[in-house]
Amino acid sequence: MMPRPHSRLVMKFGGTSVADMTRIRRAAELVAAEVKAGKAVAVVVSAMAGVTNQYVTWTDVAGPPAPGLGDGEDEYDVVVSSGEQVTAGLMTMVLRNLGVASRSWLGWQVPIHTDTGHGHARITGVEADTLGPAIDQGVVAVVPGFQGLGADGRITTLGRGGSDTTAVALAAALHAPCDIYTDVDGVYTTDPRVEPKARRLAQVCYPEMLEMAAMGAKVLAARAVELAYAHQVPVRVLSSFSEPGQPRGGTWILNEDQIMEHRLVSAVAHSLDEAKVTLRHLPDHPGTAARIFDALGAADINVDMIVQARSEAQARADLAFSVGRRDARKAMNAVKAAQEAIGFSEVLLDEGVAKVSVIGVGMRSHAGVAQTLFATLAAQKINVQAISTSEIKISVLVDEAQAESAVKALHAAYGLAEVSTQNCAATP
Ligand code: ADP
Ligand code: ASP
Ligand code: MG
Repeated sequence: MMPRPHSRLVMKFGGTSVADMTRIRRAAELVAAEVKAGKAVAVVVSAMAGVTNQYVTWTDVAGPPAPGLGDGEDEYDVVVSSGEQVTAGLMTMVLRNLGVASRSWLGWQVPIHTDTGHGHARITGVEADTLGPAIDQGVVAVVPGFQGLGADGRITTLGRGGSDTTAVALAAALHAPCDIYTDVDGVYTTDPRVEPKARRLAQVCYPEMLEMAAMGAKVLAARAVELAYAHQVPVRVLSSFSEPGQPRGGTWILNEDQIMEHRLVSAVAHSLDEAKVTLRHLPDHPGTAARIFDALGAADINVDMIVQARSEAQARADLAFSVGRRDARKAMNAVKAAQEAIGFSEVLLDEGVAKVSVIGVGMRSHAGVAQTLFATLAAQKINVQAISTSEIKISVLVDEAQAESAVKALHAAYGLAEVSTQNCAATP
């Protein structure tokens, strides 16, 4: 069968997949194979592995601006967005070396419009009027991930892992499917680095993938999955460590009704990026919680889990909540500033906590998932410090040192090591 001319495809390569010139060449060969097969391709690249971390460290060393000189996030974006630019140029040069016509378009040149939330900007629109016709005419467009053009005319970045988001947003604008090439050959029942018995899932539905990503499964950025779901972009996760044209496993992210096999629990995810703040001896009367969360909201802090318990002291309560570790100090400062209004006696910070979650759409219609979770953790003597649930997930906050044993025990308890993996077909 002749390949359909100009069927479009977005291919995204993560940090490990472009870690050095050898890896960039391998990624470029995968692109060249798709071009040869008749695809009109846009490529999205991350910074080389480790580069963004190095840049973030340097911005920390530079230190915060003196009072009255802004929050520094605008210049943080100028620094950290640059890693992707280097890879985009190099990828284009190697593609040309392989005989593939290509050129780079930086975030502001596409443009990929975002709001002004520097460091964690959200895409507000992608203009594909130039890129679409260019790729249809056989020029591979190489776009650095992670970068945007803010509504303030400045460069923005989309938050860590944000190159996935660039790729899906571009795919939505180009009405193309999106292949995410990474250092694993698909989405697994849990992080295969933590549990070697993890199994690759041939298909995962958007809601499950969204919960997995939001609960710490780094393989896809949560915002990317959200966009894919909203715009119905078919996403496939593949390994870049494979020969061009060879079968290479993979996972399709699809709608629920396209999934062949339904499981009660599909995955276990974990996140070490957590901190717990405890306020002690609060007045136990209406309005206290409102004052706490007003203070946190005003400081733009997202609170995740919350637990309240009556303390030993009469008519007093303790309240603990979890926040991202990056926000922990800010959260402490926000509640301390409102100590008089709130009325607590002391505030404690614990940065040694982790969140472990079990996820599955099957939970909606079956009881017993929570019971298995608590019984399993109890058998491992793992104490649960906070709980949160949605229709398709249960999360618990545990001691960070016990997170990996919790993941392994839950993975076994829900029979995830026995999940059968079919190969991921070229079309869903
Ligand atoms: P990239 O640099 O390609 O964006 P990431 O490091 O962001 O790659 O994401 C890939 C990593 O995600 C894997 O190496 C793996 O350790 C981790 N991961 C966490 N949970 C899962 C999961 N459920 N399935 C596959 N990989 C996972
Ligand atoms: N380079 C950025 C990061 O490390 C974006 C990405 O790779 O997705 O977070
Ligand atoms: Mg990533």
